[in-house]
Amino acid sequence: MKGYIHSFETFGTKDGPGIRFIVFLQGCPLRCLYCHNPDTWIKSNARYQMTAQEVFREYEKVKGFVKGGITLSGGEPLMQPTFVLELLKLCKSKGVHTAIDTSGYLFNEQVKDVLNWTDLVLLDIKQFDEVKYRELTSRELKPTLDFLAYLEKKEIDTWIRYVLVPGYTNQKDDVEALANYLSTKQNIKQVDVLPFHQLGALKWEELGLEYKLKEVIPPLDVEQREIEGIFKKRGLKVKERE
Ligand code: SF4
Repeated sequence: MKGYIHSFETFGTKDGPGIRFIVFLQGCPLRCLYCHNPDTWIKSNARYQMTAQEVFREYEKVKGFVKGGITLSGGEPLMQPTFVLELLKLCKSKGVHTAIDTSGYLFNEQVKDVLNWTDLVLLDIKQFDEVKYRELTSRELKPTLDFLAYLEKKEIDTWIRYVLVPGYTNQKDDVEALANYLSTKQNIKQVDVLPFHQLGALKWEELGLEYKLKEVIPPLDVEQREIEGIFKKRGLKVKERE
């Protein structure tokens, strides 16, 4: 069985604890307006097709420096649950810490199996208002919330990631509702507020896609602090920025 891989990052410091080996998998069911990696959307456009053993060998080449573990990101790693399961089992058999970065949109029995081998989930919640979520991602919010409920039930450590996009995700009512909701969950160890940036804009052009966020200016520091404050006020730990 081969996985469809977009790329690797050898010294990832943002996608889980410690310095990590990041595997970006190809394919995603969402279409986020701010996506930085629209070139990961279509599974068949993968640069590499590799077995779990081959991917793990790539990790082994750098494991002397990469002390944190392996994170599977994308795209959406859970679009390839059979491959991901094989890779995570291999990691755990070698004592390597595992994390997956996901939107939580794909939630089924296979995914539950994958979670048995996952130490940490980085769950991207794009918006907490259902209508705005759909406008932003072209998909429904509910599967993500069902996914989070399952993570809580299984006591799986979870970091929430929230991309702050002026005009799309900075409405205080929505953030407060999200923060209230998250503050009831015992498994949430951290919230990471990520400022929107324009670094992915060129990729949209290269792919001939219409990029609707051309005019959006990244959030000011003060605005980001305010949004982070909403989470902190509910007792949630917010990741410190470098
Ligand atoms: S979930 Fe991630 S990869 Fe998929 S469209 Fe959204 S930002 Fe892009």
